Amino acid sequence: MPCPYPPALVDRAVPVVVNLTGSGTCAVPSSRLSRRHSRCVIRNRMMTMEPTPISDEELYRELIRKIGEDPDREGLLKTPSRAWEALRFMTQGYEETVEGILNGAIFHDDHEGIVLVRDIEFYSLCEHHLLPFFGVAHVAYVPSGRIVGLSKVARLVNMFARRLQVQERMTDQIAEALEKAVAPKGVAVVVEAQHLCMMIRGVQKQNSRMVTSRLSGCFRADPQMKAELMSILKASE
Ligand SMILES: [Zn+2]
Repeated sequence: MPCPYPPALVDRAVPVVVNLTGSGTCAVPSSRLSRRHSRCVIRNRMMTMEPTPISDEELYRELIRKIGEDPDREGLLKTPSRAWEALRFMTQGYEETVEGILNGAIFHDDHEGIVLVRDIEFYSLCEHHLLPFFGVAHVAYVPSGRIVGLSKVARLVNMFARRLQVQERMTDQIAEALEKAVAPKGVAVVVEAQHLCMMIRGVQKQNSRMVTSRLSGCFRADPQMKAELMSILKASE
């Protein structure tokens, strides 16, 4: 339970401003307060101080220190800026939108069969460990009067991959983007990936792959379409 006293009453000797919780009371649990609420005062003073902006570089320098290394060692001097650049690159998908990618790349066409773009390589970052997971995505759809440029399908995969992700959500997002963009008769997305968080830590399984899929429309409702999809996926393996 937080300290119930308004900060101004906590210690008149120290000027205290309303804390950042906006409640006007101290956030320090009352069980941890001394009689004069000194911790409370300190906490409130800390909370009302202007946060010092930490540079991207200093963030990484601190991480390097935390693992017991010396960020001033010659080999590590440029690591913070390189690491930050790498992270920015790996998460550049936040700067793109589905609309931006598909703009001008949707065409009218009467094709009635399955369109499959397979083996689209991707590299993503698992949002639980910030470790890479990578593999291939197979994206198929059956047009209903509109098709999308093939390279755009790959770019869609890339956009969702270059974010903090879980494979399950990424699979759904690719399918939903395509469903929305060309309103096809059906969409199928299959993603196969290896996760470094499983390979190099935890259970350390080097050869396991995770497969996720999302089928909609005719791929879900029509067993024949589903069977055809499976056979062309298999045939092109
Ligand atoms: Zn993970």
